[in-house]
Amino acid sequence: DGVSPPVSPRITVIGTGYLGATHAICMAVLGFEVLGVDVDETKIRRLGEGEVPFFEPGLPPLLAKATDSGRLRFTTSFEEAAEFGDIHFICVGTPQRQGSDAADLRYVDSAVSALAPHLRRPALVVGKSTVPVGTATRLTELVRSLAPAGDQVELAWNPEFLREGYAVDDTIRPDRLVFGVASARAEERLRAAFAPVIASGTPVVVTDLTTAELVKVAANSFLATKISYINAMAEICEATGGDVHSLASALAYDDRIGGRFLKPGLGFGGGCLPKDIRAFVHRAEELGVGRAVTFLREVDAINKRRRSRTVDLIRELAGGDLTGVRVAALGAAFKPHSDDIRDAPALDVARALHRSGAHVTVVDPEATDNARRAHPELRYATDAISAATGADVVALLTEWPQFQEIDPHLMGSVVTHRRMVDARDALDATAWREAGWTCRALGRP
Ligand code: NAD
Repeated sequence: DGVSPPVSPRITVIGTGYLGATHAICMAVLGFEVLGVDVDETKIRRLGEGEVPFFEPGLPPLLAKATDSGRLRFTTSFEEAAEFGDIHFICVGTPQRQGSDAADLRYVDSAVSALAPHLRRPALVVGKSTVPVGTATRLTELVRSLAPAGDQVELAWNPEFLREGYAVDDTIRPDRLVFGVASARAEERLRAAFAPVIASGTPVVVTDLTTAELVKVAANSFLATKISYINAMAEICEATGGDVHSLASALAYDDRIGGRFLKPGLGFGGGCLPKDIRAFVHRAEELGVGRAVTFLREVDAINKRRRSRTVDLIRELAGGDLTGVRVAALGAAFKPHSDDIRDAPALDVARALHRSGAHVTVVDPEATDNARRAHPELRYATDAISAATGADVVALLTEWPQFQEIDPHLMGSVVTHRRMVDARDALDATAWREAGWTCRALGRP
C-alpha cells in the first residue's frame, strides 16, 4: 500500500502463560513497547507486580528488567490492547478437547473475537499458538468480519518452537523463524517485529498460512517419533536381553540419525507433544488423509507403554505386589528445569502405583505445588532423602540434576530396601550397585 510499517511496531501478547509471558518479556527486553493481555486477572496482577507465575530459568530477572524499562505492562482489557498495538500475538492455550483427540480452539476463538471488534486502524494479528491446519484461514474471515478497520487488519501465523527450561534463549536466539503470511505487507510487519532476532542471523522461512501451521505439528511429530522409535527398540531389547542404551549410542554415531532425542526412557509428556500429535491425527482424519499419519497413533501408544512398563518394573522389584509398598517417586515435572506437570510421565507412574495400592511419596524441585494441587491423593516430600525414608523402592522419574547428584550411600542409609528403578537412565548404576542397591533401568537387561 506504499505505507511503510512502523519502524518499531508496538506489540501486544494475548495469553500470558508459558509461551506468552516469555514472548512478552523477551520482546520488551529486545527493545519493543509491549502490552501483555490475559483473561486471568490473578496472572496479570502477579506479572504486573514483577512475579513470573511459573518456573522458567532466567525469566524473573528479565521481567524485572523489562518492567523497570517502562516498556512492558500488563492488562486484562482487549480495548486497551487494540488501541495500543500494531501487532497482536495470539499465545493462548490450545489443549486437548475433553473426550476427544481434537484441539480445543475455544480460547483462540474467544481471544480473537474479543480483540477484533476494537481494531479500528491497520494491525496484524499473529497466531503463535499450535493449531490444527485450516485454523488461520478460518480466523482470517473472523477477523475481517469483526474488525471495524476491515481489510486493514491482516492475519499471519508464526508458530513457536520454544522449549520450556530453555524458553528465554529459544525466544531470543531461535533456530529459525517461520512466517506464514498472505501478503507482502504482513511479511514486512513481521520482519519489523523480529528485526533484532533476524539481525543476529536467525534464518526466516516465509510461507503461506497453511504451511506455517503444518510446520509446527510436523516438527513435533518428528520429535515424538524419534523418541518412540528408540523406545520401541527398548521394548525389543527388553524381550531379547539387549541393551538399548548401547544400541542408541551406536546409532547416534551415524550423523544421518543423530543422538539428540534418541534417548530411551520414560518417554515424552508435557503440554505440547502428546496433545499435538493427537490433534494432528484427528485433523488429518477430518480431512480424509488420516492414513498419512496413522503411525502417530503407534508413536503415542509406544510412549504410553513406557509408563506401564515402569510400573511393572517397580512391581517386579517389590516382589510382585504393590499393595502397601512404599515408593519414593523422584520427579513430578514432565521434564527437568520445568514445573509443568501437563501429561507428565512421572506423575502418571506415581498415580498408577497409588491406584495399585502403593504408598507413593513424590518429590520434585519445582513442580510439587502444581502436582499437589492436581493430585492431592499422593504424598509429597520437600527433599529426596525425606521422600526415600522408609521406602521399599525408589524410582527416578524426572532426570533433575539434583537427583543425579544423590549420594547412594546416604540414601541407602534411610530406605528400607535398596531398590532403584531408573526410568530415565540418569544414574551411574555402577556407583549405586557398589553402594548395595539393586538397580533396574528401562531397556537394559
Ligand atoms: P498456558 O496454558 O501456559 O497459557 C495460556 C494462557 O492463555 C493462560 O494464561 C490463559 O489464561 C490465557 N487465555 C486463555 N483464554 C484467553 C483469552 N480468551 N484471552 C486471553 N488470554 C487467554 O499455555 P502455553 O504452554 O503457554 O501454550 C500456549 C500455546 O502455545 C499452545 O497452543 C501451545 O501448544 C503453544 N506452545 C507452547 C509451548 C510451550 O513450551 N509451552 C511451545 C510452543 C508452542
